[in-house]
Amino acid sequence: MPFEFQGKHVTVAGLGVSGVPAAKVLHGLGARVTVVNDGADERARAQAAELEALGITVRLGDGDTLPDGTELIVTAPGWKPTKPLFTAAGQAGVPVWGDVELAWRLRRPDSAPWLAVTGTNGKTTTVQMLASILKAAGLRTAAVGNIGVSLLDAVTGDEEYDVLAVELSSYQLHWAPSLRAHSAAVLNLAPDHLDWHGSMEAYAADKGRIYEGNRVACVYNVADKATEDLVREADVEEGCRAIGFTLGSPAPSQVGVVDGILVDRAFVENRHKNAQELAEVSDVNPPAPHNIANALAAAALARAFGVPAAAVRDGLRAFTPDAHRIAHVADVDGVAYVDDSKATNTHATEASLAAYESIVWIAGGLAKGATFDELVAGAAKRLRGAVLIGADRALIREALTRHAPEVPVVDLDRTDTGAMLQAVQEARRLARPGDTVLLAPACASMDMFTNYNQRGDAFARAVRELGA
Ligand code: ADP
Repeated sequence: MPFEFQGKHVTVAGLGVSGVPAAKVLHGLGARVTVVNDGADERARAQAAELEALGITVRLGDGDTLPDGTELIVTAPGWKPTKPLFTAAGQAGVPVWGDVELAWRLRRPDSAPWLAVTGTNGKTTTVQMLASILKAAGLRTAAVGNIGVSLLDAVTGDEEYDVLAVELSSYQLHWAPSLRAHSAAVLNLAPDHLDWHGSMEAYAADKGRIYEGNRVACVYNVADKATEDLVREADVEEGCRAIGFTLGSPAPSQVGVVDGILVDRAFVENRHKNAQELAEVSDVNPPAPHNIANALAAAALARAFGVPAAAVRDGLRAFTPDAHRIAHVADVDGVAYVDDSKATNTHATEASLAAYESIVWIAGGLAKGATFDELVAGAAKRLRGAVLIGADRALIREALTRHAPEVPVVDLDRTDTGAMLQAVQEARRLARPGDTVLLAPACASMDMFTNYNQRGDAFARAVRELGA
């Protein structure tokens, strides 16, 4: 439904990645924009000055008070729903949109449909694979959301698209009530960000919003029943189908794997008898089980959009993963060194550990309230040894003592940045030829590093020193 912004009092909650462009776009549409922001640091002051020069009002240091006359709030996705600003908005009957809702409302009537992806892990990878497949089919597209082009730019910029591959976080979905994708996938659901959502149920419900109003396909993970439940609960357009992806042999209306081949039994004529070969498992980079699942989800969305099988194969072959996601750094003395620094939670690490037979595991950092028993118990048989770093390493050590008492553990009692070099040296001592030394920390990095990129870079540097 078109929304008239001219003369409207719109409050933008939060400067930063989404707030600054949102404020500019709304101002350009004739809205009377006030930006509120909790912090007032140097960066915020610089951003405020830039916006004020355009005639936008900015209030620094108070993100909790609802400005008088506000008719709409456009919030940064990370702002918690329990913030007083939103309580006040609720009482005053003021609607709250996130950056995705804004983009959705601002798109042109004839604009490109969205193929949307969410999940606890694998979103970025899957959206990039999807964009690569769509490009291989000759479509004008982009991977948008967290990565690459911003959603707002994609819908308001001059570039023309046939279809968009859109990554959506649970926060963004929470604030996007009217979004209606062409087709969407929930890759998996594991506890994450529960402090923000309040409960696992609320987190799942926000993820499930991605299926609301889908027109062609709701893609779910056969191995993760919670994702299928979300499809069942969704209110979709007449004729929209539930399509499962599985690492096993696919049933009708599923995509899956048969003898090393990715196979479609969903978007083929007579799916009860026929199947269509899409690609080989070896076309997926890297061909780790969870990544094959990502490729299948991307393929299902692309096929829902009518993309031919050959483009799925070509698109997967052309795809290279982003840095720090199961990235092979080097082989030294017959041992492979793999950087999965992006594995910042136990769910991602579980997938990573499942991808190798015999592992020296480098783990630890900030646990963010996680427990490690299940993860360690599941991987115990494949662990040659473990090297622990970071602030919360004792939690992992205790889980190892409980579930893998025979596995040698080196506990590095230091959290300085240089600890990574020592960790890699210790891992080398534990490893035998044929093993994989895997950095999959299951924790956030901020106790020792600026972010997971810096942690992964430190690992790669340390590995290169070994080989030198
Ligand atoms: P996101 O955008 O959801 O954070 P990424 O593609 O950046 O996802 O991957 C994040 C981490 O999750 C990486 O460590 C990666 O190895 C792991 N991962 C990727 N896909 C999956 C999956 N399908 N299941 C579990 N873990 C995954």
